[in-house]
Amino acid sequence: MLTRDPLHAAPRVWGDPGEIAPDVFMHPAFVNSYALRTPVGLLLVDPGFGHASDSLLQAVRQWTDAPLHTAVYTHGHVDHAFGLRAFLAAGAQPQIIAQENCLGRFRRYALTNGWNARINQRQFSLPQPVFPHHFDWPTLTFRDALTQQMGDLAVHYRAAKGETDDACWVWVPARRYLFTGDLIIWQAPNCGNPQKVQRYPAEWAEALDCMAGLDAEWLFPGHGLVIQGRDAVRTVLVETAHYLRVIIAQVLERMNAGQTPEEIVHAVEPDPELATRPYLQANYDHPKFIVRNLLRLWGGWWNGNAADLLPATLEAQAREIAALAGGVGKVIARGHALLQEGQTQLAAHCAEWATRAAPHDLDAQRLKRDVYARRLGEERALMAQGIYRAAMNDARAALGEEPESTVRLVMGWQE
Ligand SMILES: [Zn+2]
Repeated sequence: MLTRDPLHAAPRVWGDPGEIAPDVFMHPAFVNSYALRTPVGLLLVDPGFGHASDSLLQAVRQWTDAPLHTAVYTHGHVDHAFGLRAFLAAGAQPQIIAQENCLGRFRRYALTNGWNARINQRQFSLPQPVFPHHFDWPTLTFRDALTQQMGDLAVHYRAAKGETDDACWVWVPARRYLFTGDLIIWQAPNCGNPQKVQRYPAEWAEALDCMAGLDAEWLFPGHGLVIQGRDAVRTVLVETAHYLRVIIAQVLERMNAGQTPEEIVHAVEPDPELATRPYLQANYDHPKFIVRNLLRLWGGWWNGNAADLLPATLEAQAREIAALAGGVGKVIARGHALLQEGQTQLAAHCAEWATRAAPHDLDAQRLKRDVYARRLGEERALMAQGIYRAAMNDARAALGEEPESTVRLVMGWQE
């Protein structure tokens, strides 16, 4: 789980737990949890998932008996901030540090538990909705920066925004250790997720540049491989920032030129060279979703089509289109033809029109099932795959077929 050559590395998110750097224990189980040995006890960076808490505790305790002094949440996401349970049950009483917006995140999670459970079910193709409702609340929060003296070791916490508004990163200058949380994930930045709240591409790039200026020797990311070597660390940080800024600049230019959101979404592309980097593959989020996220940040929700301002229902629109086509059967036939030609985007529109105009028409549901099975196969981004798989499974349910779930989750949610 270590590379000195990120340009040619093969990223992965699973590995054996162990000491990855002097006094740093790494537990890579989709998400990376780290324990840093300090003169006063352990600093646990990201306790991880709730369901992995026991295995994390066990692994750490095989490494050291040192007491848990402090835990930090690099942000309040489910894969990072819910794994303290086993430590607390074993009697640990750590300081729990987080950026102050983590409190608001947990409150929002409590308010919207059912909504988030369904989002995660769809996003990760889970068999049922699941989302935590117990929180190990931070005991110490900060707004901008915090320095903690752990014996003679100074630990610096800096607030950031990026994938979330409650991010922070951790810098240990005496060791030149940088813990980035999900500001580095060995994927194109997860900065556009279509189902989740606002994300912050510009602040993300700023945080990356700030970290690049530290001259860190070691980078410990939220997911994926640890990076060693000052040039390697700086390259990954700077290039990830540049990847975001290339998208940001295009969006701003087009917004200021008066283009509509739909025009902008179709026109903007990531930097083609950076998009080939092993640490900037769009296998998780999709660059087009980053564009939409920026449009939401800087604009309203209107898409530029006046008919969509106060629209007819999608079902009414679909019935009108089917009538114009000469019946739902024509729409279905056209959908299959488009699918045959490989025009899967248009085929998907036909499938939506057909199933919304005639939800009980089994041929319409078969088209929908086949269209989304194809789109699922074509699409690399997990965020898109989850939605396509859910749509396919809706059609399967309408046809009385078994749903397809990712039995053993790609991302290990249920490991
Ligand atoms: Zn994460």
